Amino acid sequence: MLDTDVLVAGAGPAGLLLAAELALAGVRTTVVERHPERPPYCRGFNLNARALDLLARRGLAEDLVAEGHRVPHAPVTGLPGPLLLDGTATGHPFSLGIPQTRVEEVLEARAAGLGAEILRGHELRTFTQTPDDVSALLHNGRTIRARYLVGCDGGRSTVRKQAGIGFPGVDARWYALLGDVECDLPYGPSAGPDGRTVFVIPRPGYVRVIVREDAPPSDKNEPVTLDRLQAQVDAVLGRHVELRNPRWLSRFGDAARLASRYREGRVLLAGDAAHIHPPAGAIGVNVALDDAFNLGWKLAATVRGTAPEGLLDTYHDERHAAGARILANTRAQVALEEAGDEPWADLMRRVAAHPAGNRALTEIITGLDTCYAPGDHPWLGRLAPDVPISVGGRATHLAALLHPGRPVLLDLTGSLSAWSPAVEVVPGTSLSDLDIAAVLLRPDGHVAWVGVPGSGDDGLAEALHRWMGGVPVRA
Ligand SMILES: Cc1cc2nc3c(=O)[nH]c(=O)nc-3n(C[C@H](O)[C@H](O)[C@H](O)COP(=O)(O)OP(=O)(O)OC[C@H]3O[C@@H](n4cnc5c(N)ncnc54)[C@H](O)[C@@H]3O)c2cc1C
Repeated sequence: MLDTDVLVAGAGPAGLLLAAELALAGVRTTVVERHPERPPYCRGFNLNARALDLLARRGLAEDLVAEGHRVPHAPVTGLPGPLLLDGTATGHPFSLGIPQTRVEEVLEARAAGLGAEILRGHELRTFTQTPDDVSALLHNGRTIRARYLVGCDGGRSTVRKQAGIGFPGVDARWYALLGDVECDLPYGPSAGPDGRTVFVIPRPGYVRVIVREDAPPSDKNEPVTLDRLQAQVDAVLGRHVELRNPRWLSRFGDAARLASRYREGRVLLAGDAAHIHPPAGAIGVNVALDDAFNLGWKLAATVRGTAPEGLLDTYHDERHAAGARILANTRAQVALEEAGDEPWADLMRRVAAHPAGNRALTEIITGLDTCYAPGDHPWLGRLAPDVPISVGGRATHLAALLHPGRPVLLDLTGSLSAWSPAVEVVPGTSLSDLDIAAVLLRPDGHVAWVGVPGSGDDGLAEALHRWMGGVPVRA
């Protein structure tokens, strides 16, 4: 007897969104999280445009947007000016300032509300897998048997290590100390006599101070003390600036590693468990959500037995490639920051100062340019834009069709009803100037097929067969 269909290790952003997606699809899901409670400190503080676009496909963005504060540009490291979101391919042309912990709370409530079991204070220690199932042993001796195990257990992932999945990449060349404290330094960089800086980021009721260490520590896991942070800040500034009331002290580096496989049999990886990278561009939470959103519907269809052959492997294909791009983008930003007067860095700064170049960089760094299967229509493989449509005489938006988490064939010509029930066909009319007749949306909102006026349903059967299964392809 199986205890659950999918066991998720880790209740961070990746694990919680994945659990919510699986539960939405009716898949029995259990999350084990080693911390009894969510830690009081908060790592990330932003959702980017791409993550908000994805969350909007489940109706989850609106409330978060109402709660957070909007910044009209995307975080970037190494460029003198901002990356603007105006005119980029998004329904959310801003970054949202919101604590990661708040996003986790919202996702946890949704996952639990949809029926996922969330076991806090439960640490996965080891697991074994057979061709039919996975058995995980917890710290308390309990065993949980599931069809699949997903390691959403962070950068030091136990699941990744025990699955024997390699984590190639580069070691950290430098480490920085981080302190959530109170102090009288101004926001932004403060330079010392030799040009080194202490960076101060405003946070609610405190500030986050970041300063690079002079040399890599002998033990990177050694706890950071206030004395150590204070000494480094004073050394860099060449004067004493008192740091008070520490809430969280930590250290991070610029290591970059990517799991060699996102799937090993019945075990999968998502989020930091699959990739670590420098914090440039404040992207980690956003990529974790992107992984989970891509995996959720594919794993659900696989568990339910409706997935076409190979669907689950497209998770590796699509997200491993995305992970490699994230590593490259974040490492490039660090290189840019360190490049000084190098001619190539000057060129990049000029590209970023050019409106079209700035837009392209924004789309690359935020992942708005994500395209899983480019084709001969610009929408193919990309997240379908959230265009206004009318369905049953009611004005709505394309993203709303995806709230139930199922694939949808939006039919703007009224000629495709025969494809039901192979796929849910939604007859509608466009309320904007769209030059398409129909579009097949995967549950994650990415476009699997586009019908252009006059082309009928050419290629639709193949697209359904490839992504949704169960549809015979005509000879
Ligand atoms: C200082 C700092 C600032 C950051 N700022 C930003 C930012 O502004 N924007 C941004 O997008 N990202 C930011 N990040 C990155 C972001 O926090 C991570 O990328 C994100 O949390 C990854 O989500 P995840 O779900 O993959 O992993 P995690 O959030 O790390 O979650 C993993 C979970 O698994 C649990 N776990 C681990 N092992 C086990 C086990 N064996 N059994 C059960 N549970 C286990 C852990 O307790 C944890 O809760 C920042 C990171 C740091 C360190």
